[in-house]
Amino acid sequence: MSHGIYRCPRPINEPIRNYEPGSEDRRLLEEALNELRNEVKEIPLIIGGEKIKTDSKKPCIVPHDHQQVIGYYYEASEKEVQMAIDSALQAKAEWEAMPYKHRAAVFLKAADLLASKWRYKMNAATMLAQSKNVYQAEIDTVCELIDFYRFNAYYLEQIYEEQAISPAGVWNRMEYTALDGFVYAVSPFNFTSIGGNLAGAPALVGNGVVWKPASTAVYSNYMIMEILEEAGLPKGVINFVPGNAKTITDIVLAHPEFAGFHYTGSTSVFSSIWKEIGNNIQKYKAYPRIVGETGGKNFIFADESCDQQALAVAMVRGAYEYQGQKCSAASRVYVPSTIWENVKTKSFEMMETIKMGGVEDFKNFVNAVIDEKAFTKITSYIDYAKSSPDAEVIFGGGYDQSKGYFIEPTMILSKTTSFKTMVEEIFGPVLTVYVYDPKDFDATLEACINGTEYALTGAIFAQDRLTIQKLENALKHSAGNLYINDKPTGAVVGQQPFGGSKASGTNDKAGSKLNLFRWINTRAIKENFNPPHQYEYPFMS
Ligand code: NAD
Repeated sequence: MSHGIYRCPRPINEPIRNYEPGSEDRRLLEEALNELRNEVKEIPLIIGGEKIKTDSKKPCIVPHDHQQVIGYYYEASEKEVQMAIDSALQAKAEWEAMPYKHRAAVFLKAADLLASKWRYKMNAATMLAQSKNVYQAEIDTVCELIDFYRFNAYYLEQIYEEQAISPAGVWNRMEYTALDGFVYAVSPFNFTSIGGNLAGAPALVGNGVVWKPASTAVYSNYMIMEILEEAGLPKGVINFVPGNAKTITDIVLAHPEFAGFHYTGSTSVFSSIWKEIGNNIQKYKAYPRIVGETGGKNFIFADESCDQQALAVAMVRGAYEYQGQKCSAASRVYVPSTIWENVKTKSFEMMETIKMGGVEDFKNFVNAVIDEKAFTKITSYIDYAKSSPDAEVIFGGGYDQSKGYFIEPTMILSKTTSFKTMVEEIFGPVLTVYVYDPKDFDATLEACINGTEYALTGAIFAQDRLTIQKLENALKHSAGNLYINDKPTGAVVGQQPFGGSKASGTNDKAGSKLNLFRWINTRAIKENFNPPHQYEYPFMS
């Protein structure tokens, strides 16, 4: 065996492409969209590298054109879940023992494949299956996933370099291994990259993984498996098992070798799984690591001194990009009455120009929400506001699901800070504004801090430095990602590690060293070059 100390390439963020009309990128992307729209893909499970079809088959539909089926995926039954666990445990032995440079190389190669050959197809898949416009798809499924894979490889090397001190005569070593068991990854629909990272991060450090994607994102998530396979990921390291969430989860959580849960999704599901893990605790060989990034009710708090145009842009982009289906989306805004009329005019001027429709028409800023369930939930909040004496729908409020699940960007004006849409996560294109008297600054800030159970993202808009300092300090535990004079969305790997606390999750910061540590077992080894030869200590003489 040959040796050397190798350095992982130092990552930079993947540049975002524009796809402007007439560009080669646009041409290739449109080709990919056409290709995918005109075929019906069969999406099997992948267990131990084998492609498996079962008796249960579900369609992958286009949310902005719900009569269009672009594929069918197969659902795992109990038998396949057991197979996936066995396969993850079996593959782990060799994978964990593999020198780090080889494990890292798989993910670095996957990132390169995504940046080149797969770029257009991955974007097209996310655009069609999850109704994301090209920009939203590019920053997610291509750039963020590339960043996750390149930065994680680099961070892991830094972890391995963290070593204990060794006084004379002793060599202390910190050894980093995978967890003792397998990791279960459960991903949401709204970011393709999150699925790739939830499965990829534990795998990179040497774990075997069972990955259950969201049913509405199976189409694009399967492509990640194809890319990883092409990049040389050994069979069985990640096992892809779409299907009924409860059935799969119950089997996984009952397994004695269940060692870690890597989750992103709603708060209620995370809480119920945490409880089940607690109930099963006697069954496990070791205490499982639990990492969950969950819901948000993200705020913008504006001060009179703020740049009002910048605030209006942050409201529009922050609340309506990807139809508000970002965990970080702005969904409640506190604006002083002295500037509200101007901010309202500016944001309405922008909102009047927003076009809504399918992703194939590149002029559309807003597309469809993910499915009928989301459509029903979001529109029920709009209807509630329409009929309430405590609020008024001041922009949008219309919706139509005859062709696709379309909901207009909607703005609600609330008379109270505790109105339902100021408090609950809606996860749709709905922004609620509370207008406050500047005399009530402190009470309004208090309502912003304590008004919801979440603490994911938030933004402060102010020019006055004393106010910025005051808000930053007061909102310390209100957002894991705080923005000053910027929208609360759009975290970039390596720049703003992402995650929140309270009901927003365990705040283990996806795409950072902190997250990778959760999938690692450490061993401290002391080697004594000069062991004592008598048991007595000097004080005894
Ligand atoms: P969801 O909770 O409906 O689903 C998330 C995943 O959990 C899916 O794979 C789903 O199949 C699975 N699931 C559902 N019920 C389950 C059960 N009983 N047992 C086990 N698994 C189950 O969420 P979603 O609609 O896919 O995503 C939206 C939610 O995710 C929002 O609340 C959003 O804020 C959150 N989110 C958070 C972050 C973050 O980083 N904090 C990022 C993206 C999304």
